[in-house]
Amino acid sequence: MEATHFEHRLGNLTWTDAIRAMEERRLVIVPTGAVEAHGPHLPLDADTHQAETIALLLAERIGALVAPPVVYGYSATFASFAGTISLSAETYQQVVVEVCESLVGAGFKRILLLNGNRPNGTANDVAARRVSDAHADDGDLLVAAVSYWEPGASAIHELRRSAVGGMGHGGEFETSVQLALRPELVHLERLEGVRPPLVGWDLVAPGTPVRSYGAHPHPEDGHPSIFGDPSVASKEAGERFLRVVVDALVEAVTDIHGSYAERG
Ligand SMILES: [Zn+2]
Repeated sequence: MEATHFEHRLGNLTWTDAIRAMEERRLVIVPTGAVEAHGPHLPLDADTHQAETIALLLAERIGALVAPPVVYGYSATFASFAGTISLSAETYQQVVVEVCESLVGAGFKRILLLNGNRPNGTANDVAARRVSDAHADDGDLLVAAVSYWEPGASAIHELRRSAVGGMGHGGEFETSVQLALRPELVHLERLEGVRPPLVGWDLVAPGTPVRSYGAHPHPEDGHPSIFGDPSVASKEAGERFLRVVVDALVEAVTDIHGSYAERG
């Protein structure tokens, strides 16, 4: 699961290489993440790391480029936990719009916002819409948005060990993925005695289409900054989840990337 992928990182190119990539009509993936508390056992940058790593694994399969990630996200939920660095929803969305506008200004015609932090998702949808609206006469421009777990959700749900509600934030899914990618940063022993709540918005289980928003958790109430069940996580599960996630993304982006590459 090593993902260095030198040639797929936009940031590793020179500006003249970037012109060539634009002329080759490469899809540019913009990973969007967060720096926020993920329980006593996972690193603060889990979301950014996962979005970028999955973007690179996807890029390798489809010949895309990966822009440097938007590392800070909309993390108001975990604002009272130390180490969380959050942008306001307005600032976050504006950053994403301006990153996209820079790419469009350079001539890139296919942009995929690949999200790794659930609350960023709705902002990314609006950002994609704003950018395409600003260039509504450009019939060749397409800006797409997806959260990395969405295309493979039902397949991941089939593979799960946790009960529904166990794959929210810092639970079975993310803990397994971090065990597969960066085991040295996962502190399972710190979960001893921690009983995190399950969530009503499990990332991959079929559920209600209604999204509801409520009170924020606080460390002084003993909340561990986990929503889900990390106790059943494993490295092997993380490797399986990643394969499913990337396979499903390859299939999901074929429509925006495949037809585009053929036309180029
Ligand atoms: Zn996360």
